[in-house]
Amino acid sequence: MTVTIIRAGNTWDGIADVPLGPGEILIENGIITGIGKCVRAPAGAEVIDLPDRMVMPGLIDCHVHITLRPEMFTNFWAYSAGYKALLGARALNDLLMNGFTTVRDCGDADVHGYTVRDVKRAVDQGLFPGSRLINSGHIISARNGHMDATSALSPDCNCWQNNLADGPLEIQRVVREEIKWGAEWIKFAASGGFSTPADDPVDVGYTPEEMECLVATATQYHRPVAAHLHGDEAVRLAVLAGVRSVEHGCMASEKVLRLIEERGVFLVPTQYAGVRSARFAESDEYWKSLGNNPFMRMKIRMYKDVLLENARNLAESRIKIAFGTDLGLFPFSLNGAVEFSEMVANGIPALRALRAATSVAAEMLMRPELGTLAPGKTADIIAVPGNPFENISVMEKVNFVMKAGTVYKS
Ligand SMILES: [Zn+2]
Repeated sequence: MTVTIIRAGNTWDGIADVPLGPGEILIENGIITGIGKCVRAPAGAEVIDLPDRMVMPGLIDCHVHITLRPEMFTNFWAYSAGYKALLGARALNDLLMNGFTTVRDCGDADVHGYTVRDVKRAVDQGLFPGSRLINSGHIISARNGHMDATSALSPDCNCWQNNLADGPLEIQRVVREEIKWGAEWIKFAASGGFSTPADDPVDVGYTPEEMECLVATATQYHRPVAAHLHGDEAVRLAVLAGVRSVEHGCMASEKVLRLIEERGVFLVPTQYAGVRSARFAESDEYWKSLGNNPFMRMKIRMYKDVLLENARNLAESRIKIAFGTDLGLFPFSLNGAVEFSEMVANGIPALRALRAATSVAAEMLMRPELGTLAPGKTADIIAVPGNPFENISVMEKVNFVMKAGTVYKS
């Protein structure tokens, strides 16, 4: 039995309105068994002293693409499944070192195989260090939809991909196929997007009948549904169809944001990838740093005002916001914790941003053992050198990481 005690200068449990002050956490065999001002230490317990740091639950990024990199956008076929697996392994290591002990992958870029599942399995088997991964399989898309990657190729290329489905019958087949190969969530493109060449973010990706069939098939196997969404009408239809999480949702009107709130649907706003681009729409330097994606810049310019208004309305809403970055769209050398500062810059209070990456994310993912510090919870614990309630950018300086009781960074 391994027994560890963390003595922290300051603590926050993932829920409380304010930091809880100095505290101690007792961890036995990867589970938190005691927390308070002072816990009774069994003889032989290892003591970790973190007097000048704030200790909090391991972070959760609900929206990453570990097998995707910006350079793949116009050609998914130029990279083998093996190479994508190596990229995925490296991504999970980088994420863990930045304090993200759990991530949900929101779409495997291996459009032939099921590489995200294999990388997850390798981490679970302890083959290399990495974040705990929740797998959403591929982004199911209509032909000519957001994730029809063949639109970047010539018509005579005849490249196939495993995530295209039109009409209820094909949708049922692909949902079942994704579940067979390890999808714990079902992700689909319910609208067009910004980063791709052929579609527009206000395009509606599927008919109401198709969306309802997708949700019903996922529900048959107890899988929640996450929907890639931008345009207002697509968000409305997907929420009515019964999705659990709206990904991006960055062009939803005030009225549709209210519908999300009323239905208790979670929103993962990915603001660093979205509204930040709107703020920097005219900066050549900014777009150069993103690899100069021409389709994205053109579309962001077109919808800039809507994106900025949506961010203001979201900050004023009471929607359950879960933290997500869309890393993969950016290289993993970027620390996804920059999303915290972006959320605060858009009017979301630090407390709401911190809960989004801890207790609220765990609620959305239906993983009650994660996201909070309390007896019985998994010992996913991080520390930062300061108080993020006063200065949110300390979240980019995580310098202690424990996942399930094992220290990975100290
Ligand atoms: Zn994404």
